[in-house]
Parts: sequence; C-alpha cells; structure tokens
Amino acid sequence: MKIRKVLKIPKNEVKMNTPSIAVFPGDGIGPEVIASARAAIEALQGRFDFQLEMKEWGGGAAYYRETGHDLEEGSFEAAGQADAILLGAMGLPDIRYDDGTEISPHLRMRSEFGLFAGVRPVKKYANVPSPLGDPRAEDIDFVILRESTEGLFASRGKGLVENDSIARDFLEITRETSERLFDFAFDLTRRRAERGVGKRRLTCVDKANVFVSMAFFRKIFDERAQAFPDISADYSYVDAAALDLVRKPWDFDVLVMENMFGDILSDLGGGLVGGMGMAPCAEIGLEHALFQPAHGSAPDIAGQGKANPTATLVSAAMMLDWLGVRRQDDAMLQAGAALDGAVTRVYAEGAVHPFEFGGSTGTAAFTEAVVEAIATGG
Ligand code: ATP
Repeated sequence: MKIRKVLKIPKNEVKMNTPSIAVFPGDGIGPEVIASARAAIEALQGRFDFQLEMKEWGGGAAYYRETGHDLEEGSFEAAGQADAILLGAMGLPDIRYDDGTEISPHLRMRSEFGLFAGVRPVKKYANVPSPLGDPRAEDIDFVILRESTEGLFASRGKGLVENDSIARDFLEITRETSERLFDFAFDLTRRRAERGVGKRRLTCVDKANVFVSMAFFRKIFDERAQAFPDISADYSYVDAAALDLVRKPWDFDVLVMENMFGDILSDLGGGLVGGMGMAPCAEIGLEHALFQPAHGSAPDIAGQGKANPTATLVSAAMMLDWLGVRRQDDAMLQAGAALDGAVTRVYAEGAVHPFEFGGSTGTAAFTEAVVEAIATGG
C-alpha cells in the first residue's frame, strides 16, 4: 500500500496552489530554533524551485501570560486550513492554566486535527557523542512511531480522584485509529527500505501479556500485517523494548506503540543519540500534519543562543518531504533530502559541536553551517 492510499489522497487531487504553513515559534528556545529552520528553508528556496507561504502566529505560555489566551485569535483555524504546521515549543513551567496544567495548545491541535501518527526518528550522527560505548552505536537509525491521539493520553482532563483516597485514569485503544496507525507504520517501514535506510522490520511494542487493551492492539497489528507480506513484523513487550533499546538499538528499524509508551521511549531514543536537541518529530493525520522538535521550550538555556537546532531542522526536512509526497512535488522532495543531507554533512565534517554535548557551536553558527552546506550542495 502506498502512502497516498494510507493518507487517502485521491490521485488527481494534487493541489497546485502555494502551500501555506502556519508557524508557531512558541516559548523558550522555540523562536530560536524556528528562526534556524526558516533560514534553512530560505536557503533551500535559493537552490530548488518551490514556494511556501509562511505566516507566524502568537501562542504558548508567554502569550497566555500577556493576553489570557494560549493562542492568537484566528490561529487555530488558520492552522486547520494550512497545508502544514511548523511549531517550536510551547509551555513554561511557572505559567499554568487554572487547573494547574502547563500551557499546551499544541496538544489540542493533536487531538482536534487527528494527528495520530507521531513519527520520531532516532538517528546517530557522526561526531555526536552517544552514552553507549559499543561502536555499533554509530549505526543507530530507527523510528519510534507513537500513536498520538488516544492510549493513556485519552484520559487527559478526564481522570478522577475520589475522596482523596483513590485516583483513576484510563487507556483507550480504538480499532479505527489502530488500523490507520499500523497501515501508516507498515508503509513507513517499506518506504525506509526503498530509500535504503531500513531493515523491513516493524516491531509492535505493547504489554499484551497483561492488558486487554494491549492484546487488542496486537491483534489489530497482526490483522494489518497480512496486507504487508514484504515486511517482517514482530513484537516486544515495552519493558523488554526499553532493555533492547539500550542493549542493541542498532537492530531496530520502526517501532510502533501506544501513546504513553511512545512518550517515554522517544525520550530514551533522544538520549541515545546526543539529547533532545537531536530528536525531531512529525505528527501526521489524514488531512493535517504538524512538525516540531520533540523537545520542550528548554527555559534553562532560552535566550542564550545555545539551543541545538538539529531536531527542528530535521523536522522541517520531514515537512518538505511530506508536502512533496502529498503534492507530488519533486522540488520539495529534493529540498527535504538536501536539508537532511546538509545536517548530516555538517556533523560528518566536524563543522559543528553544539553546546548540548559540550561544544561551543551556538544556534546561529550551526544555522550558518547548514545554510552554507545547502548552498554548496549538501
Ligand atoms: P517538555 O515537558 O515541555 O517536553 P522537558 O521538561 O522534557 O519539556 P525540555 O525543554 O525538552 O524539557 O528540556 C530537557 C533538557 O534538554 C533541558 O536540560 C534542556 O536544556 C535540554 N534541551 C532540550 N532541547 C534542547 C535543544 N534544542 N538544544 C539544547 N538543549 C536542549
């Protein structure tokens, strides 16, 4: 099954208008890493023939403190109408809604826009230190696919504490979303293999030995696997997966899992390859897609020019790739690949050493190196 079929894009319905991108820089280091992505996109437009209409909107915790609203008026609707959403980070620990939770309008976008597929690549770049001593750590290149609209997070805002003596949350798995998720997962695994990076292996991470919801999840995985005989489908209980992600992460290709498991294991993945600044993310639905680094607003380093923009740059590359596939636009596909290649190249050449892992390359210098690599064919 091709991605067009998974995303239900009719063959003859390729939009020819200029794609619009709703940009939300957000809080903390969000505006810094978004500026980096925008500079890279501008450089790509100097090399490849594609247009983007990018409009920035206010939103996040600082915006909430100033205005009492977590998003600029009209921006949610604009995000819903845009071809893609590009987001920095939202939320600051000391600014909260009345119920005590952190400001998180992007989570609303996730559920309202049905962004069920949280794609979180974990890739080891040359010259980036990994906490793993094994030389095979250089080969780490897998994807955590986190279901992002249900699972344990379905309970968000609905959990209950009774008589100050017992608290309950719930976990929800639906057939409809799981089927979509697994079709997406198998297709992603196939496309990685076609691009020469994958192993044609898809691992379902669950806890099917304990929870009925997880046994159901696995049953649907098995059903959908029948449609993808060229992909090797296997399973791992989440505890064993955590162990193997530290013991032999280089063996994995794509891992698909429930929302909460994905939340946890994708941070573990970031930790394997240098930190959260190395953790990109695409949140994809049938009609909408949001691209953002998997990290938060990092208030501890905000405003110092020290943020590592890698995660945002790779997320922007994923955005161009996604738009390119959807619109059958070769220039965008090439631009996405070029941005990815430029990031790989600046690390491989030792041109960048971000503060995040003890170096002294700030956000601006990193961006300059990538812009230069794009201009010279990176
Ligand atoms: P959230 O709950 O919003 O996801 P968090 O509490 O997990 O956020 P982050 O903001 O992701 O926290 O930051 C975790 C740590 O990683 C912090 O020490 C932060 O400085 C660091 N960090 C996160 N992103 C980057 C980045 N792009 N560059 C450098 N360091 C980063």
